[in-house]
Amino acid sequence: MHECADGAWLAELERRLLEDADLGIGECGLDKNAKAAMTAQLDAFAAQWKLAARLNRRISVHCVRAHGRLLAAMAHSDYGRWPRAVYLHAWSGSPEVTQGFLASTVAQRLFFGSCARHSKPQSLRVVGGDRLLPESDARLDDADRVALADAGREMCGMDVDKARANFHAFLAL
Ligand SMILES: [Zn+2]
Repeated sequence: MHECADGAWLAELERRLLEDADLGIGECGLDKNAKAAMTAQLDAFAAQWKLAARLNRRISVHCVRAHGRLLAAMAHSDYGRWPRAVYLHAWSGSPEVTQGFLASTVAQRLFFGSCARHSKPQSLRVVGGDRLLPESDARLDDADRVALADAGREMCGMDVDKARANFHAFLAL
């Protein structure tokens, strides 16, 4: 989120999106560790989410220690239409939080980015194979599978072809 006294950043963002129909919004989101106040973050996120919905674009969302607020913000009925697809980048939610997202009204638009450092293998298993997108820190394991998260001894992997298919599914939304 760029700090801006007025709403000029939002108009500029919309102008750039309108120049290219393939552009999406991101990353945006909520970060409890960030300096910006949570109320300001929520306002900026709501504006970006609504813009993505109105223009039918994809949105990449990052969340750090604010998953409950994020889910509430995304599922807020006043927001109207959903963005075309929602990529939850570097997913760090617990298995219980992950269940909550998958049970929400926006679940059909969600994809989860696995991050070797921050994602919990148990949570990625809750997501299931069809909605996982390996992030750029993923490596190939000994069996030539994409290693999605390897916290401790718990490992979670995916075939390369399946990972490719998931990216196509995300881009096809
Ligand atoms: Zn990020």
